[in-house]
Amino acid sequence: MSDKLKDKYSRTYKYLRVSVTDRCNFRCKYCIPTHDFEFIPHSKILKYEDIIFAVDSFSKLGIEKIRLTGGEPLVRKNISFLISEIGKIKGIKETTLTTNGSLLGKFATDIFDAGIRRINISLDSLKQDRYEYITGGFKLDDIIEGINQAINVGLSPIKINVVAIKTFNDDEILDFCDFAAKNKLNVRFIEFMPIGNKIEWRKEHIITGEEILKIISKKYSYEPVKKAKFEGPAVNYMLSNGAKIGIITPISNHFCSECDKLRLTADGKLRPCLLSDKEINLFDEIKNRDFDKFKEKIRESLKLKELDHNITNEGCDTQFKRTMSKIGG
Ligand code: SAM
Ligand code: SF4
Repeated sequence: MSDKLKDKYSRTYKYLRVSVTDRCNFRCKYCIPTHDFEFIPHSKILKYEDIIFAVDSFSKLGIEKIRLTGGEPLVRKNISFLISEIGKIKGIKETTLTTNGSLLGKFATDIFDAGIRRINISLDSLKQDRYEYITGGFKLDDIIEGINQAINVGLSPIKINVVAIKTFNDDEILDFCDFAAKNKLNVRFIEFMPIGNKIEWRKEHIITGEEILKIISKKYSYEPVKKAKFEGPAVNYMLSNGAKIGIITPISNHFCSECDKLRLTADGKLRPCLLSDKEINLFDEIKNRDFDKFKEKIRESLKLKELDHNITNEGCDTQFKRTMSKIGG
């Protein structure tokens, strides 16, 4: 049997998101609950050597791209070491990173030197009071500085991820389009998913991709940008102001048939689908460096992967056991 990871719907898996920590310096309202929230105990978190073994094992099964995420990946000590070690693994063609941007001022050079080129930075508002409210007290200026530092050290392309939330930032969609054009950054709007802080999520707060385009069309015309298969979930548009905008629609128009992604949590669970609580525990196989068992379990986990998730705009009241900070987005 080929060692490549394929599911029963013939989807091949080449992309692994690795959450290196569930800890985060931010407290984004929609992500980390303010009550009854416990971090994963340190003893249950994979060490760097464990992650390196896991990534090496995944690479033998056909994984080519790694995205480091969290929690906030830049709060984990000496993340550059992990980045450069992953870069040495045969078969891994690229390592990327998703960050809230707050520590880029400090670490952009280090992660660039360690081998990161492409990064995604989350930024949900361009207004200081709102930014502070959504992140739990952080300064927008620091993030803008972090973005500038990332540009200066040569990280490219930089994608800005915006979770679009009705009554919070729906009146900033056009501002983000101008921000994208002015700074030559690819801004991507993501539909609000029912993962994270149950208290903050409301079905009525989803702004669908269609609604986002309608708002954009009030000021700008746009053309779809052709993309290659398996290029990622965003549908991209070039706007008449010169901005490249992406729209990611996990709720209103899911892209499951093109999914080539698996997720490894910081405590060693493999999550075949973001929007499903089904997980396979790989902790022992990773700790014991047991590649054969590891491989067997991953194949089992792929059997859990459905053709698509069942969450729609109308019926998405599901809430998941893990918060996004414990999965990695
Ligand atoms: N801390 C890093 C960051 O914020 O970029 C990486 C981890 S964070 C969990 C990954 C992404 O998930 C972020 O872009 C965040 O905005 C997004 N996210 C978290 N909760 C979400 C939700 N309920 N719906 C949509 N996106 C969400
Ligand atoms: Fe932290 Fe990212 Fe979650 Fe915000 S979205 S709390 S930055 S993990």
